[in-house]
Amino acid sequence: MENVIIIGSGCAGLTAALYTARADLAPLVVTGIMPGGLLTTTTIVENYPGFVDGIDGFQLMMNMQKQAERFGARLRTLSKVESVDLSQRPFAVTIDGEIFHTKTLIVATGAGHRHLGIESEHLLENKGVTYCATCDGALPMFRNKPLVVVGGGDSACEEALYLTRFASTVYLVHRRNELRASKIMADRVLGHPKIQPIWDTQVLEILDVSQDEVTGVRLQNLKTSTETTLDCAGVFIAIGLVPSTQLFTGILATDEAGYFKLTEGSKTSVPGVFIAGDCADKVYRQAITAAGMGCVAAIDCERFLQDEAHAG
Ligand code: NAP
Repeated sequence: MENVIIIGSGCAGLTAALYTARADLAPLVVTGIMPGGLLTTTTIVENYPGFVDGIDGFQLMMNMQKQAERFGARLRTLSKVESVDLSQRPFAVTIDGEIFHTKTLIVATGAGHRHLGIESEHLLENKGVTYCATCDGALPMFRNKPLVVVGGGDSACEEALYLTRFASTVYLVHRRNELRASKIMADRVLGHPKIQPIWDTQVLEILDVSQDEVTGVRLQNLKTSTETTLDCAGVFIAIGLVPSTQLFTGILATDEAGYFKLTEGSKTSVPGVFIAGDCADKVYRQAITAAGMGCVAAIDCERFLQDEAHAG
């Protein structure tokens, strides 16, 4: 019987692991298929407090993991939760075909990349269409070639800036005529000689499915409806995140966008189930806020178990 199973190993999950480990609860952390979460795919993180010169995203997550393990957190690396039964306590959690029982559950499943939703995007994924510049940007197929980044938020700006190391030109295709990104990121992008914004424009199609590789994009100006094509060797899509809450459909309440709804602090309608991080946050979505939510969930979890022990 586990005291607590934590689903997710991003900032929220690993901070919850650190706090519950320090409370002697020996948490079991199910990392999912991307240990360390989305931050491992970023380069330098400049806004996580405590690192004067910034810190590499992968390194930050490795540090968090080691820190949690130092106090007794147990990580099931590359493991995936297949189903949960929260209808009675202890809860049953099926991990890679094996059923585990746990007194409490902390859900920190994060969020995944939003897709454009056009057929050519799907057909050319990993053939020039990608969602991660730091993972794929240095590939030979993208070197000294024009590349397209889609989006206008911090992620799109970060991707575009990173790709300037490899690309001949980076076209930033955005559906409006101003960036949503923070001012510091927007200023860096708009002042970069290799980045060319294309405003008020949507991607209608990624070319060329018949050649089984990316050769360009078909664009449409949303103000004039004019269609154009643009040659490029890669399309990097950075149009935001979708919460990873599907495992709990019909079990835990979510809002219309799929984010978990919390009752008080990190609590849900099921006593003993706590939520942390981007799977419940469509407003702030920062590494530090996710970590803070992980801390809140761990404290709520610890107090819940304490209250139950005193009552029993
Ligand atoms: P975001 O802030 O939600 O921005 C998504 C962008 O994609 C928006 O510009 C949006 O356009 C556009 N978009 C959404 N759906 C689209 C569609 N179907 N077709 C075309 N464009 C579409 O997402 P994000 O950039 O991934 O950032 C997520 C969170 O992480 C934010 O809170 C951000 O601040 C944070 N973050 C921070 C950093 C950093 O501090 N360095 C780096 C990365 C991410 P509209 O603007 O028109 O809505």
